[in-house]
Amino acid sequence: MKKTVFGRAVAHVFMAGAALVLTACGGGGSDSGSSTPVTTTPEVTTPVTDPTTTPEPVAPVATAPVVPDAEVLALADATNIASSGFPWSGRFAGVVKRWTLPIPVKTNGEPRAVPAMDAIEAKLGFVVFDRTSIAASDEATITRGIVFRQGTSYLPAGANPQAYCANVARAPLEGGYPSTFMFAPGEISARLYVNLDNPQCTASPEIVIHEIGHALGLGAHFKGFGDDDGPIGPAFWPVLATLYANPIGTPKTSVVVKQVKN
Ligand SMILES: [Zn+2]
Repeated sequence: MKKTVFGRAVAHVFMAGAALVLTACGGGGSDSGSSTPVTTTPEVTTPVTDPTTTPEPVAPVATAPVVPDAEVLALADATNIASSGFPWSGRFAGVVKRWTLPIPVKTNGEPRAVPAMDAIEAKLGFVVFDRTSIAASDEATITRGIVFRQGTSYLPAGANPQAYCANVARAPLEGGYPSTFMFAPGEISARLYVNLDNPQCTASPEIVIHEIGHALGLGAHFKGFGDDDGPIGPAFWPVLATLYANPIGTPKTSVVVKQVKN
């Protein structure tokens, strides 16, 4: 039985090659001694179903978003709009809080910052970061922008180093935000540090994107942002995109959800 199957497979391959020859040169080859009418008939149909041929065109189907609009809005509300918890502490409650774009960035030569910013801009579809204006500035002179540092993650005494691998704060090795980092009607504007790594943990590419997410205006974690799905999950992108698709200060009832193509 195995032998029979093997023999058919060999014939299959051979005839596929013959079909290619016919296609290429218009047929009429003289090397027809090894093929017979018995095997030719069924093999003619082979290229049609051969998985190596061009796939059949599939009619476009409208696919539902991975995270429904209502859930995106609820998550955006919980992590940003409602101003509950850190870092909002109730300020500018009920409206969208985010930066005016573009956001100046000083990477301090941190190589992980670049692909992370690239990924965010690719998902959102527009320029988010100004990578040049403060790139060479003395940090003390920077009043507005994101500054990357390496080896400066805030690690409380006795804490699990893996759980404190990176953070966003007002300074290296700190855990708090600047006392003033928002202006009416909800504009984030300050020098915020993205602190990466501690002596026992190196931030992954996903963690770097996660931290930039915090810096861009995501507060509390949610499923898709540091909770259950790892540093970033499917819900991270539409929540972030929604914040940046609506004007600063937009009340929740007027927020338009923005989905992201994967
Ligand atoms: Zn986080």
